[in-house]
Amino acid sequence: MSEYVTHEHDVLIIGAGGAGLRAAVEASAADVRVAVISKSLLGKAHTVMAEGGIAAAMGNVDDRDNWSVHFADTMRGGQYLSDWRMAELHAKEAPERVRELEAWGALFDRTRDGRILQRNFGGHRYPRLAHVGDRTGLEMIRTLQDHGIHLGMDVFMEYTVIQLLKDHDRIAGAFGYDRERGRFHVFRAKAVVLATGGIGRAYKITSNSWEYTGDGHSLAYHAGAALMDMEFVQFHPTGMIWPPSVRGILVTEGVRGEGGVLRNRDGERFMFKDIPPLYANQTANSEDEGWRYTQGDKEARRPPELLTRDHVARCIRREVREGRGSPHGGVFLDIAWIKERIPNAAEHIKKKLPSMYHQFKQLADIDITQEAMEVGPTTHYVMGGVRVNADSQMTDVPGLFAAGECAAGLHGANRLGGNSLSDLLVFGKRAGEYAAAFARENSLGELNPEELESAENGALQPFERQGSENPYAVQHTLQDVMQELVGIVRQEQEMLQALDRIRELKAASERVSVDGNREYNTGWHTALDLFHLLTVSEMITRAALDRRESRGAHFRDDFPTKEERLGGFNIVVRKPSEGEMEFRREPIPPMRADLQQIIKEMK
Ligand SMILES: Cc1cc2nc3c(=O)[nH]c(=O)nc-3n(C[C@H](O)[C@H](O)[C@H](O)COP(=O)(O)OP(=O)(O)OC[C@H]3O[C@@H](n4cnc5c(N)ncnc54)[C@H](O)[C@@H]3O)c2cc1C
Repeated sequence: MSEYVTHEHDVLIIGAGGAGLRAAVEASAADVRVAVISKSLLGKAHTVMAEGGIAAAMGNVDDRDNWSVHFADTMRGGQYLSDWRMAELHAKEAPERVRELEAWGALFDRTRDGRILQRNFGGHRYPRLAHVGDRTGLEMIRTLQDHGIHLGMDVFMEYTVIQLLKDHDRIAGAFGYDRERGRFHVFRAKAVVLATGGIGRAYKITSNSWEYTGDGHSLAYHAGAALMDMEFVQFHPTGMIWPPSVRGILVTEGVRGEGGVLRNRDGERFMFKDIPPLYANQTANSEDEGWRYTQGDKEARRPPELLTRDHVARCIRREVREGRGSPHGGVFLDIAWIKERIPNAAEHIKKKLPSMYHQFKQLADIDITQEAMEVGPTTHYVMGGVRVNADSQMTDVPGLFAAGECAAGLHGANRLGGNSLSDLLVFGKRAGEYAAAFARENSLGELNPEELESAENGALQPFERQGSENPYAVQHTLQDVMQELVGIVRQEQEMLQALDRIRELKAASERVSVDGNREYNTGWHTALDLFHLLTVSEMITRAALDRRESRGAHFRDDFPTKEERLGGFNIVVRKPSEGEMEFRREPIPPMRADLQQIIKEMK
């Protein structure tokens, strides 16, 4: 033990995005010793990229909004696979979490009478997203990190956890390295919160930052926790597609919320052609009605561009495949057209969407106040993740909690825009609170020296091998495989092919070698990330093979319809004592009668 730098805390939080920081704030306020670990610098976690806003039924812009409507919207968006208790807690608690953020110093955009302004977003019935222009994540991270530092949390920046440590069944800490020196560290803790974000780097075209290699999903799986819904990967309809160097970078749904429209090569608003029955009553039937909705007309219904992401992404793919795409293989997203409707449109666009304006000007030399953007789908979010108790966020492993994008439950088959930032606040808080309570009731677990030694030996292997595989090459091939064979539209033969390729890539990853020393060795870090990326890629593929229907973000060419009988369960995966991943269909518990009633009334 003495050869490792060892740290001791009551609650260890792995991840310094919105979920991790909100958990840290709550646990610190409960007066326990808290550490937060982050692969990147504090303030640089992926949450900082969030643009459009935080969904919370505050009713500031439309007083018809309340938690019941938000609950029903979330359940409908998730195609009724969401954990209904999580959806209830989320809808009820999000407004308070946003107001609390404001009390801690977050400066939101405001209504004329000084309340927090809320904007329209896909799948939300009323304007619901509290926002700061299109830089909401930055404000959220800044506020939470300032608040957390003042409460006394310890921060370990540029540290990466590579294995969770257990004392028999319960959690005992984590093992990792610091990027700067490459030294190993042992973190002992009574409770651990996973808040590691998503898996987007398993795909070639993604809006996600470099940190999103599915570490938390894989750490939890290998520690014996159950995961669920891994087949549901969200492809956001609007990513940049040109020039190639910026392909995948997100174009916020806020553009459509502010009146932006989608057109094909022929100038047609193709979204009007295909409105799913579940949303027919809530969707505008003319361009004029859609425009009025974006301008706050309470009598109008939302334009079809604001249907759920899964649907919009598939419509774009259809236009491209049927030869009606834009020159670089996407479609056009046009906000400049609003100059036909409002004075000073260019200034208005720059004020409401400052990051989008700069993003296109600097990266693509396009002035979005004058020209349409070219956009196409990009891998954006994973609905699947670690299965948790809805109230406490504890996983199947005692003392191990999960919150944010790495946890599953709230979003079911498809996440609504804005529901992630609110998820981080609501369930980050809960995870911190319950982890602190767990830490108070339990002592530190004992560490197993053999487990530590084996983690260290495994991590150092790439330096010792004489193998010929390059870690970056393996990662790129995996991204191609997932993009081509387990992407936005799936079918059995291709996914079986993907499984074969993943098997080969696993073998290749065991031959990967790296040069140099342990200080800031990005090749070595990539070699270690591969283990997680391959684990989550296999989970996604196997779960997608098992769900023989199309629902939400999961679309099967060979099973293109939604099957009633398949709507009542989650696909759950666990690590068996030996052999291949173990998948089980587990029934969703019956919904409480009062919540059922809400769904019925909101249909
Ligand atoms: C461009 C963009 C815009 C978005 N806009 C919105 C929006 O407007 N509204 C909305 O609701 N959602 C939005 N989302 C989604 C949302 O931003 C994310 O789902 C959310 O920020 C995830 O937060 P998190 O706290 O779970 O994880 P993150 O913010 O990603 O934090 C993960 C943390 O875990 C750390 N970590 C990971 N692995 C390890 C490891 N092995 N060891 C140590 N640390 C580790 C990382 O370093 C990081 O600190 C957007 C996403 C993108 C990409």
